[in-house]
Amino acid sequence: MQEEGKPVATSGGFIVGDKGVLIIDTMLNKRLNQQVQDIVKNKVGKHIQYAVNTSAHGDHSYGNMYLPKETIITQHSNTQKYVSKNFKADTEFMMQNFGKGRGIEEIIPHTGDILVEANGKIKIDLGGKFVEIIDFGFAQTGGDLFIWEPESKVLWAGNAIVAPKPALTWLLDGHLVETLATLTKVYDFLPKDARVVPGHGSVMGKEDIKWHIDYLATVKKQVQAAIDDGLTLEQTVKKVTMPEFGGYALFGWVHPSLNIPAAYKDLSK
Ligand SMILES: [Zn+2]
Repeated sequence: MQEEGKPVATSGGFIVGDKGVLIIDTMLNKRLNQQVQDIVKNKVGKHIQYAVNTSAHGDHSYGNMYLPKETIITQHSNTQKYVSKNFKADTEFMMQNFGKGRGIEEIIPHTGDILVEANGKIKIDLGGKFVEIIDFGFAQTGGDLFIWEPESKVLWAGNAIVAPKPALTWLLDGHLVETLATLTKVYDFLPKDARVVPGHGSVMGKEDIKWHIDYLATVKKQVQAAIDDGLTLEQTVKKVTMPEFGGYALFGWVHPSLNIPAAYKDLSK
């Protein structure tokens, strides 16, 4: 499926220490969250001590309410602020995308017990296993967290890196320049042999992030040139087609309808 560039379901994961388990992302609804809990129960048999949300997006955080009461939820302070203010609108948006009758109706917002502040980083001791939860900067929502397990060199990136090539970053909330800077920072942070779990799709290597960085850098360069030439947004969309980054099933929407307008707005500031 990946080869065809089709969108795939939310990726998550878990990290096991002597004391307990940390899960990354809590999924969209009760059914999917229960799948995660069942996997941990059957494979590990230890309690879920921590859960982290890589962003406020429902498919990464709505499942918080189904976790055991003692599970400590960690998220970015901006995610907590976003959920506190926009929860209802957010569920409506998610129902538009995922459909009604999938359990989104029953979600009650459950925000973080531990909040990571802007540019912050926290370290969690799972018992013989340390996990770092890092804000590298604006990545897709402004409340984005990356989870780094240094021993096995695995990074969970959330939606900032949505899936391997040919998938493309979605600039849903704009901020092309910051997103490019953040992904570059993430790339520089990683050792050569690191593995990266994207928000959706299968595990990739450090070098695979280059595709996403190159895409954003090319968007920046070409849209800036269009602005410098005095082109309107409409003319810029027509001009900056970048077929060399095609292949993603959603290219026809993500590139001209979302990313180019976002870049144009960001660079026109
Ligand atoms: Zn997602």
